[in-house]
Amino acid sequence: MDFAFDARTEELRKRLLAFMDEHVHPAEAVAEEQRAALDSPWRTPPVVEELKAAARERGLWNLFLPDSEHGAGLTNLQYAPLAEITGRSPQLAPTATNCAAPDTGNMEVLAQFGSPEQRERWLKPLLAGEIRSAFAMTEPEVASSDATNIETRIRREGDEYVVTGRKWYISGAMNPDCAVFIVMGKTDPDAEDVRRRQSMVLVPRDTPGVEIRRAMKVYGYEDHWHGGHAEVLFHDVRVPVSNLIGEEGGGFAIAQARLGPGRIHHCMRLIGMAERAIELMCRRAGSRVAFGRPLAEQGVVREWIADARVAVEQLRLLVLKTAWLMDTVGNRGAHTEIQAIKIAVPRTVVDILDRAVQLHGAGGVSQDFPLAELWASARTLRLADGPDEVHQRSLARRELKRFARP
Ligand SMILES: Cc1cc2nc3c(=O)[nH]c(=O)nc-3n(C[C@H](O)[C@H](O)[C@H](O)COP(=O)(O)OP(=O)(O)OC[C@H]3O[C@@H](n4cnc5c(N)ncnc54)[C@H](O)[C@@H]3O)c2cc1C
Repeated sequence: MDFAFDARTEELRKRLLAFMDEHVHPAEAVAEEQRAALDSPWRTPPVVEELKAAARERGLWNLFLPDSEHGAGLTNLQYAPLAEITGRSPQLAPTATNCAAPDTGNMEVLAQFGSPEQRERWLKPLLAGEIRSAFAMTEPEVASSDATNIETRIRREGDEYVVTGRKWYISGAMNPDCAVFIVMGKTDPDAEDVRRRQSMVLVPRDTPGVEIRRAMKVYGYEDHWHGGHAEVLFHDVRVPVSNLIGEEGGGFAIAQARLGPGRIHHCMRLIGMAERAIELMCRRAGSRVAFGRPLAEQGVVREWIADARVAVEQLRLLVLKTAWLMDTVGNRGAHTEIQAIKIAVPRTVVDILDRAVQLHGAGGVSQDFPLAELWASARTLRLADGPDEVHQRSLARRELKRFARP
């Protein structure tokens, strides 16, 4: 077993680390200032466009796509350590490198299932970072962790589909650059197979009947960096039938295909967040004195730091193993491991961030350190892309089956 990264990964890591130090971290404060001066907090600050140009020039662009026609052609194992590095600045670095959710999953869907016209109209500008996109599945009225519950209707009328429904927590939709939605709804509510009732259609943002009603908050934050999480209404929105992605009834299968890579990308970035938390903990513990001793000399603080390091090393190994399995036996073969990391990583990283907040005292919950916002963001990943309990249920079912009596 070889634990070293290959030469290409090492070279890209070096380039990305330099990009983070020279461009991304210095831009964090600039972006905050610029956003405060914009007419709308949902707009992209100009410095982000500068970062995108700089990343592209350095070949740090579309790193997530395993297909060399559209992206960098990296395997999951090669991409994992790079996504981890971008996770250290989750507000800026994934967008700067055109590797931010939900665009990544949407680009994968279009590359895999889109028609040539759909790819030309939407995938091309997404790959170029000229537009953003959103994925609209979750609904306030039904338990959306079970996708068969989705109630939005996609009704065929002649050469058009008519979309009617209400969605919420649609990430990215508040940003005016978000030009298109991939909307999941029911085309055949009576199909015998509950997994063949749903379809996905492309809905351009400027189509009559699309209403971006409000920004949902995340623990009180509006999450400007990720384009917010909007409540969106579709009032009898008409789109041509050519906007269907794949086939009618294929929505459920596309949603499943979309989530495998998305989940591991989130986990990779979360590990980067945990690394940042450890760094901040160590710097703070070394520089702050309480009761006559630096915090770093308090036993409990050392325990927190040591436990965080042990946990991060464990998580990273599991994520890398999962990436390797996805590369070698495919997403299906890596199903158990994808679920395992989706359960373990957000939960543990939330704990690490919580300790880091504690160590920073009031500063930890303030806007002067990134910890509170990182905590809120990591905590949502125990819900988004499948709540912990749903993954636990399915993982346990497979384990039980292995030992079931014949
Ligand atoms: C910040 C954020 C961003 C998001 N972005 C998007 C987006 O871009 N697009 C989108 O479509 N959605 C998005 N979501 C929604 C997210 O995917 C859903 O919240 C998630 O799928 C859960 O659905 P629900 O909220 O309807 O919870 P429900 O389905 O109502 O579930 C509630 C709780 O019930 C429990 N539960 C459910 N099923 C089981 C089970 N089988 N066994 C045991 N317990 C169970 C779990 O504890 C679960 O948390 C986002 C959510 C957040 C918080």
